[in-house]
Amino acid sequence: PGKNAEDPRSHNRVVTGQRIRVLLPLPLAQPYDYSTTEQIAPGTFVEVPLGRRSAIGVAWDGEPDRGLPAGRLRAVTRVFDVPAMTPTLRRFVDWVAAYTLSPPGAVLRMAMSVPAALDPPAPQAGWRRADAAPAGARVTPQRAKVMALLADGAVRAGGEIAEAAGVAPALLRGMADAGLILPALLPRARRFAAPDAQRPGPALGPEQDAAAAALRASVARRAFATTLLTGVTGSGKTEVYFEAIAEALRAGRQALVLLPEIALSTQWLDRFAARFGAAPALWHSELTSRTRRDTWRAVAEGEATVLVGARSALFLPFPDLGLIVVDEEHETAFKQEEGVVYHARDMAVVRARLSGAACVLASATPSLESTTNAETGRYAALHLPARHGGAAMPDVTLVDLRRTPPERGRFLSPPLVAAVSETLARGEQAMLFLNRRGYAPMTLCRACGHRMRCPNCTAWLVEHRAQRRLQCHHCGHVEAPPEACPNCGAPHSTVPIGPGVERVLEEASALWPEARRLVMASDTIPGPAAAAAAAKAIQDREVDLVIGTQIVAKGWHFPHLTLVGVVDADLGLAGGDLRAGERTFQLLHQVAGRAGREERPGRVLLQSFAPEHPVMQALVSGDIDAFMAAEADARRPGHWPPFGRLAAIIVSAEEERAAERVARDLGLAAPGGEGIEVLGPAPAPLAILRGRHRRRLLLKTRRDIAVQPLLMEWLAKVDPPGNVRVQVDVDPVGF
Ligand code: ADP
Ligand code: ZN
Repeated sequence: PGKNAEDPRSHNRVVTGQRIRVLLPLPLAQPYDYSTTEQIAPGTFVEVPLGRRSAIGVAWDGEPDRGLPAGRLRAVTRVFDVPAMTPTLRRFVDWVAAYTLSPPGAVLRMAMSVPAALDPPAPQAGWRRADAAPAGARVTPQRAKVMALLADGAVRAGGEIAEAAGVAPALLRGMADAGLILPALLPRARRFAAPDAQRPGPALGPEQDAAAAALRASVARRAFATTLLTGVTGSGKTEVYFEAIAEALRAGRQALVLLPEIALSTQWLDRFAARFGAAPALWHSELTSRTRRDTWRAVAEGEATVLVGARSALFLPFPDLGLIVVDEEHETAFKQEEGVVYHARDMAVVRARLSGAACVLASATPSLESTTNAETGRYAALHLPARHGGAAMPDVTLVDLRRTPPERGRFLSPPLVAAVSETLARGEQAMLFLNRRGYAPMTLCRACGHRMRCPNCTAWLVEHRAQRRLQCHHCGHVEAPPEACPNCGAPHSTVPIGPGVERVLEEASALWPEARRLVMASDTIPGPAAAAAAAKAIQDREVDLVIGTQIVAKGWHFPHLTLVGVVDADLGLAGGDLRAGERTFQLLHQVAGRAGREERPGRVLLQSFAPEHPVMQALVSGDIDAFMAAEADARRPGHWPPFGRLAAIIVSAEEERAAERVARDLGLAAPGGEGIEVLGPAPAPLAILRGRHRRRLLLKTRRDIAVQPLLMEWLAKVDPPGNVRVQVDVDPVGF
């Protein structure tokens, strides 16, 4: 192990005396004190009584409260014999809690997502040959066969020995009684094959080579540094950071790769296995509890050397992390909005710093946050200027829907229809992109104008025609399409308004009945197996026309796809979101990047009602730098992120008045001063969500002002009743 290795048993300060603090994975503000007769080092997993139950927690750092009389303390009831939680992970838990203003116990819960892992798997019994046969022991021909089998001194399972030697299992017991063989524990089977860093990777192009060398050097330094790795889609960023992973493995350290949509990453996993000769360990919400437990232990024991995961993988117990890669770092999927509200990209940088690890953020369309950090020198920057193998960037053109509109009730304009027809006629693949699931985003009564709304949310119900239902995409509410308008009673009066992918599929089926079509949306591609099957069908040219939502934008490599049509390029620009332009640019640039990945050039058509919009113009020119510079110029004067800090407070209650009252009180108690501004209270973007009324306040400060102390002081001034929830979101996205 290297200099950053943490052997918890040797490095930990031993808590002397009879008191320890134990942090429990519950939303508690701080650790509780317990008594103990043993010496328990911080990080040790322990079981303690809690009320009438018991709970498993972690011996935590810091001084116990000496004031409490010893007689009032309850005792630790069990100490687990598993690797202790490392000092780095404990500091990370405390850091995330302090930054997000979450109870440390709520953060600890993410690091203890598999309590069953604390019970070691029962060791398997087997047999080995005695070093010397006792004098006088009878060696029958059958016994001799067993002795020969065990001659190498290895431990073997009884069943295996009996089968290989062709003897009855009962024979072994007799041999043991005679002292010829001894019971022994079987070596535990490796759960995770080791990726092989010595396998040669592909020959890198000169720019890739230089970037790979810089990343290798960063990993070899064994010190924290963050690098932003950019380059157009298909420029070979993945191959480059694979070299950083290889370097971490050669240094004997672990590597963590965060992917935004692990369930859709089958192509990535195939490439990893081809490069390293073994699959990485995986971490995401769909693992079975048994796999979770095995993976957790394999990470803790250092057996899993490369782990690929969703954001929660940041809280795994790596003893010696040498590298963290965040691929597609601009993705909003890295933001967790429930429970502890945190951004995994930002916390990855923190975890790398605490671990003395290199951190690599990769994207073809980096966030303005990371771009700015690279410009100010906080991050190193590496750029791959061209597609690997000389493939050209796709040719992006705009279709002005005001000049060449689709036919009435249709959504594909004549230029797009012609382009798809030509592509299919050449035997190439085409893709239609629309970031909307279902058939139609709204249902309207022709007679009275009534719109079908979710009863629990400020949202329209989306028609899913294939399933014959209307559905809320926020709370999951489902109802049957109405026979008659629920408002005016007119029979069969409702009509769908606007398109979803199902409706585009319907139109495509009429236009190109011969084309083999595939819809890729989160409801048609529910998991990794379906994603892998879809990707294979496209690669094997069993599909001519792909129709998809944002899941088709994610990192796929489809060699025969030469046309991408964006049905509604303006879709993401509506609303008052600070990052609407940035996000739309990122998403559409990524979608466009699916076209023309190999020899044949790609074409992209963007249908828009606002072709003059800067986002559309940037997509056509492909000039990311100019677009990001314009975004920066727009945000800098108002101290909007990343040039200032932002935190949101969301107040919610089932009763609107209750939420309003607390929001108003918060507004009255708002902090002020130079460089501090409070916006609101105002209805939150989803003013009603799952039956709760939501009000929002935004705290905006200059960059050199920390928001956490301000927020703590502010929130302490208001004491909301029990039916009102107050949530804090530091660095909110999507507002
Ligand atoms: P990015 O991550 O920048 O989108 P990738 O790493 O996915 O780019 O590379 C795009 C394609 O080019 C992939 O199919 C990849 O296997 C291939 N590729 C990239 N670099 C090389 C290389 N040096 N040799 C061979 N193939 C490469
Ligand atoms: Zn709803």
